[in-house]
Amino acid sequence: MGGGMDKELQFEAIRLPPECRELRQQVRQFLAEEIARGTFDPHASGDDASSVEFSRKVGARGWIGMTWPKQYGGGERSFLERYVVTEEMRVANAPVRLHFVADRQSGPMILRYGSERIKAEVLPRICRGEVCFAIGMSEPNSGSDLFAARTRATKAEGGWLINGTKVWTSNAHQAHYMIGLFRTSPASKENRRHGLTQYVVDMRTPGITVNPIYQMTGRHDFNEVVFEDAFVPDANVLGAVDEAWKQATAELAYERSGPERFLETFYVLRELVRVLGEKPDIRGTEGLGRLVAQLHALRRMSVSVAGMLHAGKEPVVEAAIVKDVGTVWEQRLAHKARDLAAFITEAAGNRASFEEQLRFATMVAPKLTIQGGTTEILRGIIARGLGLR
Ligand SMILES: Cc1cc2nc3c(=O)[nH]c(=O)nc-3n(C[C@H](O)[C@H](O)[C@H](O)COP(=O)(O)OP(=O)(O)OC[C@H]3O[C@@H](n4cnc5c(N)ncnc54)[C@H](O)[C@@H]3O)c2cc1C
Repeated sequence: MGGGMDKELQFEAIRLPPECRELRQQVRQFLAEEIARGTFDPHASGDDASSVEFSRKVGARGWIGMTWPKQYGGGERSFLERYVVTEEMRVANAPVRLHFVADRQSGPMILRYGSERIKAEVLPRICRGEVCFAIGMSEPNSGSDLFAARTRATKAEGGWLINGTKVWTSNAHQAHYMIGLFRTSPASKENRRHGLTQYVVDMRTPGITVNPIYQMTGRHDFNEVVFEDAFVPDANVLGAVDEAWKQATAELAYERSGPERFLETFYVLRELVRVLGEKPDIRGTEGLGRLVAQLHALRRMSVSVAGMLHAGKEPVVEAAIVKDVGTVWEQRLAHKARDLAAFITEAAGNRASFEEQLRFATMVAPKLTIQGGTTEILRGIIARGLGLR
């Protein structure tokens, strides 16, 4: 790539290997059985819901911590196999909320940076679908700029005392643990990112208060979390003290590259297909064709990132591109669907459920390009990665 860019983008044309096909069938069959049993409703509007029972069943199938060592309850399978499971769960609208963050990022972080005690204590329980994790990064005055975090961890006998406030903490009200990013030293002159440390915090610790924050949809997904002299033992430090900036970036790469980053409003696409019917008009056909082609391209890009992660590479820029393009796509989907179905009055089936899905997706839309890093921040990362700033 020329024109002032000194780095090249790399989207290797990876395809899912044959063993993924069999796994996909297994996951589909499992989901069909659970739907038939009434465990969840695949047509319920809404983002990922929670079910203690469902998470345990997924764990029993070996579909949580799939890539982790067997020693800690994992399956030693590939990132691409994990990709298939994630994709099928999302498309089916399965209630994965309780185990998903732990599977995607908290577990891998503990595996990489945790003490042996924490690994042995927590990882097998994650694999069994028994524990929910929250991510404690954002604070009232530092969201995008994580390295401005002010919630303090002060050294005490045998551990650390935490004081301060985290905000927008998804799942904190259901979580057993949080991976929290806290200030242990002031930033240094040479490195403003110095001085932060990550901890595995047991949410039952005295001194932690979780206050709900309700979303525009009326749902309670995230929270404010207040720490007042909450004690965290030394064994719960994750990685090197003061050096979390090195590892928080790795965590964000896990957070940003999966198919969940463009499938959150997928139910709208399915409803659109239903409402347009078997013989859509030329406008409907063309519009739907475009949406599906874009989704296909996104999926190829996202699979490519999963393949590169599997190969031990660090496709940070490519992951940021998938998240940026993917979240903008899923955000606009409801608007496009409303437009394409505007002239359909005699819908094949139930128009009311289409409207209901659109209404929900429209209210969810604004958050899609904020959670996990805003569009502006991602574009900054992309520009820097390409050597443009
Ligand atoms: C549904 C949802 C769930 C979330 N869950 C969690 C969670 O579990 N844990 C957690 O820690 N956080 C969570 N967040 C927080 C989220 O990651 C932050 O909201 C996000 O990082 C933005 O931070 P902020 O809200 O403080 O906005 P700010 O950082 O104040 O940004 C405000 C605006 O300024 C822009 N901006 C900021 N800095 C720059 C820059 N350098 N260049 C260009 N533009 C810039 C931003 O793009 C944005 O448009 C969640 C958010 C949402 C919406």
